[in-house]
Amino acid sequence: TYDFGQSHANAAYKGKTTVNTKLFINGEWVEGSGKTIDVINPTNGKKITEIQEGTAADVDKAVDAAEKAYKTSWGERVSPAERGKLLIKLAELIEANADELSALETLDNGKAYSIARGFDIMEAAHVLRYYGGWADKDHGKNINIGPGKMAFTRHEPIGVVGQIIPWNFPMLMFSWKIGPALATGNVVVLKPSEFTPLTALRMCDLIKEAGFPPGVVNIINGYGPTVGAAISEHPRIRKVAFTGSGAVGRQVMKAAASSNLKAVTLELGGKSPNIIFDDCDLDNAVKWAAFGIFLNHGQACCAGSRVFVQEGIYDEFQKKFLEHVKTLKVGDPFEADTFQGPQISQIQYDRIMGHIQSGKDDGADLLLGGERFGHEGYFIQPTVFGSVKKEMKIGHEEIFGPVVVLLKFKTTEEAIEAANDTEYGLASAVFTKDISKALNVASRIEAGTLHVKRYNFLTAEVAFGGHKQSGIGRELGDEALKNYTESKSVIINLDGSAP
Ligand code: NAD
Repeated sequence: TYDFGQSHANAAYKGKTTVNTKLFINGEWVEGSGKTIDVINPTNGKKITEIQEGTAADVDKAVDAAEKAYKTSWGERVSPAERGKLLIKLAELIEANADELSALETLDNGKAYSIARGFDIMEAAHVLRYYGGWADKDHGKNINIGPGKMAFTRHEPIGVVGQIIPWNFPMLMFSWKIGPALATGNVVVLKPSEFTPLTALRMCDLIKEAGFPPGVVNIINGYGPTVGAAISEHPRIRKVAFTGSGAVGRQVMKAAASSNLKAVTLELGGKSPNIIFDDCDLDNAVKWAAFGIFLNHGQACCAGSRVFVQEGIYDEFQKKFLEHVKTLKVGDPFEADTFQGPQISQIQYDRIMGHIQSGKDDGADLLLGGERFGHEGYFIQPTVFGSVKKEMKIGHEEIFGPVVVLLKFKTTEEAIEAANDTEYGLASAVFTKDISKALNVASRIEAGTLHVKRYNFLTAEVAFGGHKQSGIGRELGDEALKNYTESKSVIINLDGSAP
């Protein structure tokens, strides 16, 4: 139990929250291996609590429970409308507990409370309500195949699906994963990140309260190489969805291939380009470019981490950008006006500081930041590098922190070519008042998302995912439903004619 009122002077939520730290299998809290994992508050590096560590044997138990639920109380044993009703009820419970869930997310992850409350938690509810709406609307087709016969397709659930999520948007990734899976009748075995398990665990209570049958959602805490690997290679899990690093995404895919050829969707990293033309609304572009990279402290796979600025406005953009970034408040994520909190962990802090050092060593211009912020926790100053070349490590590697690189370009062709000169392809943006220029870029950029005159817009209705090494498949929107359904073709001989 954590008492925000007592533990945190600045907490907007003053109540208590109680999180069960065991594993959630078959609708019950069960003991893990006996070992525990410390959950650290990134704002001060101190332990919040410890959770029970699961093992491969716990994944087996969760799969047993999930299979049983699938055959008896979920899947095709319940009407799609009923599945939808439960998802919508869960969305309502998130909204009813939004202050508490936001405080928990801020405590565990370090993101600003105002953003957790305004975006992460409310959007998680939106995602579940959206997929609740889809539950009874995802139909097959009736296909005319000529006289004497007919065909139709059924969209059927896959069965037991495994889901492995990261620490950067714990509640949001939880909703992106379970929403489409449950709407289409699947049962879930999910591993939250060992860094940020608390909101997923709190959600188990709400899943029970909403009335989901036991075994439909099972949550196994644990580390990647044990619990994550057990999910990826499980012979009775028929699909795995993963969000995280490219290196682990490859391991998940290999394990899926060498076990039972389970279906795989991957949401991986990025080095997303943000192209700012001379004819843009400069003040607006400056603000969106900063929002594009510094939201969530740069810990977003779609972060606009490469900002290409056309030469005519480069100097003015740089000046205004630095002025604006200086106004973004870094600090205690529970304070109302904080925009940027700490990075998630010491490991990430060290990785990001290593990237900053390499930028300095490679001769990029450090225009702002580059140092630790404060004296405790994992805070890094918002950092801006100018005169960056693609060959520099910071010019092409994902940093996953509050570090942006500015690059100068002359022509549209040059900008598109440079923007696409990466193995990633997740998000992108273009800033111009010229609609045909924007549409030209939109049609040629190699990325799953292109924003025009804004950045980081994520919403349940619109598909999200990566080209190239940024991933496989799409989440959100109606496209995510395909990840969780098998299509069956039924062909009927209407007049009983002989072959
Ligand atoms: P990660 O890929 O190691 O972890 C993501 C999830 O995968 C966690 O739940 C983790 O426990 C699990 N995992 C780890 N090893 C596994 C394995 N062998 N099999 C199955 N699951 C496994 O990411 P990280 O170490 O937390 O962060 C490292 C880098 O990953 C970051 O710097 C960033 O570049 C990237 N990342 C990307 C996203 C994203 O949204 N695409 C999110 C987090 C991290």
